[in-house]
Amino acid sequence: MFKLTFVLLFTHLVLAGFSQNFTIAIHGGAGNVDPNMPEVLQQRYLATLDSALQLGASILENEGSALDVVEVVVKYLEDCPLYNAGKGAVFTWDGKNELDASIMDGRMLTAGAVAGVSRIKNPISAARKVMEASPHVMLSGMGADSFAEANGLEMVDNEYFKTAKRFEEFERAKQRYLKDKMGTVGCVVYDGKGNLAAGTSTGGMTLKRWGRIGDAPVIGAGTYADNATCAVSCTGHGEYFIRLGIARDIAARMEYKQLSLEEAARETLDKLTQYQGTGGFVAVDNQGNLVMQFNTRAMFRASIKANGKKEIAIF
Ligand code: ASP
Repeated sequence: MFKLTFVLLFTHLVLAGFSQNFTIAIHGGAGNVDPNMPEVLQQRYLATLDSALQLGASILENEGSALDVVEVVVKYLEDCPLYNAGKGAVFTWDGKNELDASIMDGRMLTAGAVAGVSRIKNPISAARKVMEASPHVMLSGMGADSFAEANGLEMVDNEYFKTAKRFEEFERAKQRYLKDKMGTVGCVVYDGKGNLAAGTSTGGMTLKRWGRIGDAPVIGAGTYADNATCAVSCTGHGEYFIRLGIARDIAARMEYKQLSLEEAARETLDKLTQYQGTGGFVAVDNQGNLVMQFNTRAMFRASIKANGKKEIAIF
């Protein structure tokens, strides 16, 4: 099998003269990806992850905040139909698309989330609006759609989210009653100046029904950021991430047990596995260390550091 993990060391200097010690890590979902995925498709995934990294790095170069990077990178991935977020969201049992997203700023532990929305083009921006322009942390359904519209965010008809590939998957899944759950997107950032931020966005699980909400919009489950410890974005079978409070669990192990990010993440992943949860996460700490761990066959993932060191991988 063609091994996709590769590490690129930039010698030409996109990031020249840029001394900050920043780190950006992103994911595009974890799951049991077919190892025989056509190479052209693998390359498309790798190329979009690479562009997302470049976009994030350019924002930090231009003095943008960690939070700006999270929003812009997740938005970019939401607009890309390859991922189960925004434009490429999976279908619900009723043949619609319902989206969840959350964002957290590690400076003051402020956070925002939207759940089960169906008309907001970029749910991650709506999550940020909830954080910055409302007294709440999480808004849901039609109320969240109205809030976004009233706050001037771009709205679309639910049909906008319908892509041929996801619709086919939905029809196949419906026949076999398969609950697929791949392709969520997320981003974590350390800005090199002590600030952390995290964000996650998803269409949830194929065939979800009864207003099911996963971990992605739940602060502490799918997303967490605290300048004192780390920033985390998760992907996988959301019910387990909610039950085990996975994102906060990593930060708590660092805070209470004084573990390194690497050690804390390892313990949390072991716990997820112990309870038969599947998935993974990307996380960075307040020194710029990063982890991208998962217990599934694959996780679309990528990272970049200020020195230009990149890692982009699927399996
Ligand atoms: N965690 C998401 C959910 O359960 C799905 C995923 O990450 O693939 O809704």
